[in-house]
Formats: sequence, C-alpha cells, structure tokens
Amino acid sequence: MKYALPPFALPTVEVAGTDERFAVHRIYCVGRNYADHVREMGSDPKRDPPIFFSKPADAVVANGAPVPYPSQTKNLHHEIELVVAIGRGGRDIPVAGALEHVFGYAVGNDLTRRDLQHAAKNAGAPWDVAKGFDQSAPVTAIRRAADVGHLASGSIWLEVNGEPRQRSDLTEMIWSVPEIVAALSAFFELQPGDLVFTGTPAGVGSVVRGDSIVGGIEGLDTLRTTIV
Ligand code: MN
Repeated sequence: MKYALPPFALPTVEVAGTDERFAVHRIYCVGRNYADHVREMGSDPKRDPPIFFSKPADAVVANGAPVPYPSQTKNLHHEIELVVAIGRGGRDIPVAGALEHVFGYAVGNDLTRRDLQHAAKNAGAPWDVAKGFDQSAPVTAIRRAADVGHLASGSIWLEVNGEPRQRSDLTEMIWSVPEIVAALSAFFELQPGDLVFTGTPAGVGSVVRGDSIVGGIEGLDTLRTTIV
C-alpha cells in the first residue's frame, strides 16, 4: 500500500490489566437516557426511541491527559457516562443476544459545548460542533466484561474540584445497554472497535480552565481530567 500522505495513527484506548490496546472504530452516543437529566434539559422523559449522535474516533482522550478548553464556546459542560466497547459486530442485533457483542466497559465524559447545542436545537441544526469537537471524549481504560461482568447497576458520579455535581445509578437509565446495542445496530452495522457512550444523569454543568474533573462508575476505573 502506498499512501499519498503519511497515514495517521489509529485512535486507541487502553485495556485494563493488559498491555493490549482497543483500536477505536467509531464513537456513538445516546442522548437523553436518564429521566432526571431529560427533565433538567427541559424535555419530557417519556420513553421515546433513543436519540443517537456520534463523535469522531480520534476525539478519545486518555485517562489523566489534560483537555484544552475548546474554541467557540463559553459554556463547556461535563457529562459522565458508562461507555460500552463493542467486541463483535453485527446489524439488527436482538436485545436478547446483545450482550454477546460487548467486549467491555469504561467510564467516559461526553464533553459538550452546551451553548452551541442549545443554538443547534433552537435552529433544528445538527449537533456536530456541539458534541464532536477535538478531544471531546475522555475515557478510562476498558475493563473486559470477562473480568467485571455486564454492568446494569452501580453508582455513577462526577465531581469538579472535589464538589459533587452528578450522582445517580445505572439502574436509572431509560434504555438499558442491550436495548441500546439492539437499537443502534438497526441504524448502523456495529463493528469491533466501536464505543457507545450511553447517556448522562442529572447534574451536568460548566467547567472552566484549571478545573479538575473526577468521575467514576462502581466497578470501573476513575476518570481524571484537567481542563487547561
Ligand atoms: Mn451525553
């Protein structure tokens, strides 16, 4: 293979407890998946079909790496989320077999230019600039489902400079992990290497330069990010 330009490096995420890396194919995200967060964003948490959007694969940021405050926003928000790492691809995956496609789990922060998201919603415009910016997806090492099991309950929390901001439980998700995998695979053929951010609970808020963001999910690693 001859490339016209030097090929870029694959974006990857660490696999906990191994020297292996998880090559990231795509990053899918679910919107409005905790009833308390749907209410705080001014919507009705009835069980509408899940909302999907995406981020570029190279938006991933390693645990502990600093994130530069992004351009074009005055309201950068944190969103702590359970991240599902897909290990086996497929389309039209049934809910009953969906967990067989899950390689493991991580903790992610769906960083959001909230002011641009509000503007996009009001204009009926796409969310790309609000959600898919560079370095918008800090994520911990992936814990293999073979090691930690499948996560359907457990606390999810986030603090900024030691102050509690988000605290909920995975049982509060409107759409479960198997339901999300099944619904997403009806729109896209899932591939090994896909990451799925599964939505955030209430308590989202602003961060500024110098802030230390720490968040986690019971059974997974703690995600630490400083905004610079
Ligand atoms: Mn989110």
